[in-house]
This record gives sequence, C-alpha cells and structure tokens, in this order.
Amino acid sequence: PEPQNKIILRKPPRKGAEKRAAAERKTHFDEIYHGLDEAQASYESERCLYCAQKAWCNWTCPVHNAIPDLIRLVQQGRIKEAAQLSHQTSSLPEICGRVCPQDRLCEGACTLKNRSGAVTVGNIERYITDSALKMGWRPSFVAALPRRERVAVIGAGPAGLGCADFLAREGVKVDVFDRHPEIGGLLTFGIPPFKLDKSLLSQRREIFSEMGIQFHLNCEIGRDKSFHQLTEEYDAVFLAMGTYGLMTAGLEHEDAPGVIQALPFLIANTRRVMGLEDSSDYPWTELKGKQVVVLGGGDTAMDCLRTSVRREAASVTCAYRRDEASMPGSRKEVTNAREEGVEFLFNVQPQYIARDARGQVSGIGLIRTEMGAAGPDGRRRPQPIAGSEFELPADVLIMAFGFRPHAMPWLQGSGVRRDDDGLIITGGTRRLATQTTRDNVFAGGDAVHGADLVVTAMAAGHQAARDMLAMFERNAASQLAV
Ligand code: FAD
Ligand code: SF4
Repeated sequence: PEPQNKIILRKPPRKGAEKRAAAERKTHFDEIYHGLDEAQASYESERCLYCAQKAWCNWTCPVHNAIPDLIRLVQQGRIKEAAQLSHQTSSLPEICGRVCPQDRLCEGACTLKNRSGAVTVGNIERYITDSALKMGWRPSFVAALPRRERVAVIGAGPAGLGCADFLAREGVKVDVFDRHPEIGGLLTFGIPPFKLDKSLLSQRREIFSEMGIQFHLNCEIGRDKSFHQLTEEYDAVFLAMGTYGLMTAGLEHEDAPGVIQALPFLIANTRRVMGLEDSSDYPWTELKGKQVVVLGGGDTAMDCLRTSVRREAASVTCAYRRDEASMPGSRKEVTNAREEGVEFLFNVQPQYIARDARGQVSGIGLIRTEMGAAGPDGRRRPQPIAGSEFELPADVLIMAFGFRPHAMPWLQGSGVRRDDDGLIITGGTRRLATQTTRDNVFAGGDAVHGADLVVTAMAAGHQAARDMLAMFERNAASQLAV
C-alpha cells in the first residue's frame, strides 16, 4: 500500500461551511453558517484519511461518535444510514455539529489538522442529520418491550434530553419537566439564534414526543410541583437543572441602571426573536444607538457582543483583563465578532462603575494590565500597571463573567447533597457514576460538573440513563432472589 504520508500530502485543502457576509448577517438573527450542500459534503468526506487504527477524532469526541464510519457513509451517499449511525451515540447531532467547539474536540485531533486542515467533522455531522430529516427520515429506536419503570427528568437541557432519549429507547416511560416554554435549556434560552436556529429545538421536541417522551413545560419544580412528589411517583429522578448563579465583578454600583447580566440579556433577546412575550424575569434593554461595553472574554461575552451589534448599538466594545492569546472564547467566535464590527480592548481590568447625576451608568473605570506568572490553574495572571487608569464611556455595561450553581432550596432535606460550591455530588464508593447521595436520584450536566459544554452535558445524560437501567436490573434481580 501507498505510504500514509504520501496520501496525506495529496489531500486538498479544508474548505468548510460558507458563512454570510458580515455586513448582511449583522442585520438579522439568522444562523451565519450555511450547511454544506451535497458537492461540498462529498469534497470534505473525500479528504478523510479513515485512520482506522487510531481515529483520535472518535476518542476526543465526548460521546465517541463513529466519525470515520459516518464520513465514509457520506462519501457513499448513504445519508439515512449515516443518520441512524449518528443517533446511536448522539441525541442531538445536528445541534452538536453546529455548536461544539470542534477545534478543541474532534477536529483538534484530526491527523490533517496541521497539514491541509482538519476534516470539517462538525459540518458533516450537521449535514447528515439536516439532510436525512429533510428526506423524511426519523430515528427509529423501538424498544423490544416497554418497561414498567417510570423516570422523571428535571431540566430539558442537553443533559436532561440525552438521558430521556436513551431511556425512552429502552422502553422506559419518561416525563421531562422544565420551567421554560420550550425544550433545550441553554440551547434555546442562552445560545443566540445566529449560532443555533431555534426551530431545531421544536423539531427535536416533536421527534422526542413521537418516541413517547412527555414534556411538561412551564413547570418549575419547587414551585409548580414538589421534588417530594416526583420521588414518590417515579422509580428514579434525574437532576439536570444546569448552573444559573451569576458571577459579579465585585464592584460598587453593579445594580445601577444600565448594568445588566449576560444571561437575562440573551434570554430576553431570544424571547423576542422567538416571538414570545417579554418576561419580568428577563427584562428587555433597548440598545439602539447606545455605547455598549461587555466585560469578559468567554463565549458568553462573544454572544452578548454580537447580539448587541444586531440590536443596533452605536458602538460595541469587549473589555478583557488578559491578552488575546489567553481568551477562553473560541477563536472562531472572536473572528466572527471582529468581522461584525466589535472592538476589543485587551489587558484592561475594571476598577469602578461611573454614573451620571441620575445614577445611570456613564462609563467603566479601567486599569491596564500586563501578564504575570501563572496561577494555580496554570493560566498567567494579569497584573495592574500603576498609573495606567482611564475611563471608557458606556451607556450599557454587560457583565459576562460566567456561571456558578444557583440556590435550590427545594433540594434541602431531600438527602441529595451538594459540595461547598453548590455542585451536586455524584458517584463515589458503591455508587454509580451519576448516582447522588440518595439512591434513586441521579444527576448530570452543568449542575454536577459546572458550566461546560452541550456535548459533555449530553454525555452525562447518556451515562445517567445507563446507570438507571443498571439499577433497575439490579433491583429486579434482587426481587427475583427474594
Ligand atoms: P441547561 O442547558 O442549563 O438546562 C437546564 C434546564 O433546567 C433549563 O432549561 C432550566 O430551565 C431547567 N431548570 C432549572 N431548574 C429547574 C426547575 N427547578 N424546574 C424545572 N426546570 C428547571 N456550549 C457549547 O458546547 N457550545 C456553545 O456554543 C455554547 N454557547 C453557550 C452560550 C451561552 C450564552 C451559555 C450560557 C452557554 C453556552 N454553552 C455552550 C454551554 C452549554 O449551553 C451548557 O454547558 C449546556 O447547555 C448545559 O446543559 P445542562 O443540560 O446541564 O443545563
Ligand atoms: Fe465533534 Fe461535537 Fe460532533 Fe463529537 S459531538 S463529533 S466533538 S462536533
């Protein structure tokens, strides 16, 4: 056979999905990336080396999608078979194909990465399911026999949906409760529509409902229904409530008019795009003609910046305390934000919030920083430079510092323990990986591992489904023994 390095050298360059021009896309909230068409999918699939012995892409994907096999099916034009295979490991492939940070996961491990460019795994994954669903294909996972067990899932984000999907495939009856009017969690009420079209979630709701999963939307556990009721009525409960505690900068006047938090801002915006009524829980802020400054450098900050551009702010600036290379946000999103007209100010740390005579925000006091020695987390710490203070004018300040676990008073006294940071404790000696400190209650996703990714939350939901099935089998075996 031909040596592999010769084959590698012959591979044509990565092209990937095309995106809308910045001047056009910033006038609306439609997705910026087009899907691949048949010819583009064929081109990209031809580039795969099918590294049979060492398909690292498959191992770095948190749900271990069978990537080379999927790509080969695309190359052969067997799209429905590819979709069926894709759904064996994933509950939301068309969504992960859009929102996973592939450069850090599957594509980051591609053998071609530093040669002609990684195979566009995310684009291909999206192409498979988008195309198959358009052809009328639906995932067919019919359980051999319906089981008698019933499971309640709290939270319809990727963790809850992953768990519900894998249980329903095994014939378990699943009820999913969520306080929002649509499924998806942060997929719907977090990630902006220009990254993920919201109709994909209603399409998924229909597919899951056809599989027998029952959704109870606009239903908040702890308010509309008690946790105790669920543990009494169901054989097991899965906790997948995410993390919604908002981080602050620790500055005075963070409650001043004009200072807003990232997530309520994004939710209020998405509700309008979806045609839902405004909600007092997520107040609307008018940005047209205003000077907006976003504090933070992660993907949530990028989403706020690009949403502000589309809401016709006069200027949109990102202020981040470290240098560009240290930004936690994906490179792709930083590039997209720049193209859309966002200004970046690196190495600046907030000092104070400036207000006008009415108490309204008028600016943010900043001090310049330089990168110092690495801290315990391995990241270099920004050091303020004495005498470099200045004030940046702002009408609206958006705080995008990340998330921590939120209060869940309804869990108190339930036997489900949380650690000092508020994360739900799972696993440990003689416990299944996703089992909490209460036997028939399981947990996963951001509520357990902290704010992370869609695909890791979905993987945790799958694991919880496997753990619950193992518990049901064990319980059934011990009943037979008696
Ligand atoms: P969530 O998605 O938060 O879902 C939890 C659900 O539980 C919510 O629907 C909530 O309403 C519901 N809930 C909570 N409490 C109750 C209750 N008491 N009763 C009923 N329902 C309840 N990840 C990526 O991979 N790519 C991205 O591009 C990306 N962008 C992001 C952008 C933003 C702005 C944010 C905030 C996050 C982003 N993430 C991204 C992270 C990703 O969205 C999360 O890690 C993932 O959604 C976590 O899934 P989850 O199921 O654990 O929780
Ligand atoms: Fe890559 Fe994410 Fe798809 Fe896995 S789920 S193959 S990491 S895009």
